[in-house]
Amino acid sequence: MAEHTRPRGRPCSHRVYQLDCDDYDRLVRHAAGRCQICAVPPEQTKHGFLVIDHDDAVGQWAVRGLLCSNCNTGLPTGSMPAHATAYLTQPWWRSEAERRGQDTAPWPEPPSGSVVAACRGLRWHREGDSWRHVAKYRGAPRSWWWLQRHYGPHNMRLVKSSEEKTA
Ligand SMILES: [Zn+2]
Ligand SMILES: [Zn+2]
Repeated sequence: MAEHTRPRGRPCSHRVYQLDCDDYDRLVRHAAGRCQICAVPPEQTKHGFLVIDHDDAVGQWAVRGLLCSNCNTGLPTGSMPAHATAYLTQPWWRSEAERRGQDTAPWPEPPSGSVVAACRGLRWHREGDSWRHVAKYRGAPRSWWWLQRHYGPHNMRLVKSSEEKTA
């Protein structure tokens, strides 16, 4: 059972960062349930909850931590207290990857014809220069760069290389 309250009738918002409910619970414990910069608890924030902060320079999956909306909007402008530097240089995603022994370095694009599986078993097939979702009939084609940034290199594995003979 998840420790956090799950929204009714829709998936948890942490899923857009490739976090399942256990991951999110661990993130909340890591942050001690407060904004990781100013330490405000969720009930004292404007919207009543903390937001998931990710490092867009690394990727959609790269969750740095939990912040109040004030600190979250302060980050891009750089109007931050000095201890925010520690927060920025010790992102949660990195300690998680170390704990799990995962390599988060981007990997080179497999050749055309290859299939990769991402989180929750979603499969992507490379046709020429673009990647298509195997199950979706009309999914938008994506680039390798997009896939790596969206799911995270450590959340993807090669299922079929184009060099392999299919029996
Ligand atoms: Zn959840
Ligand atoms: Zn804050």
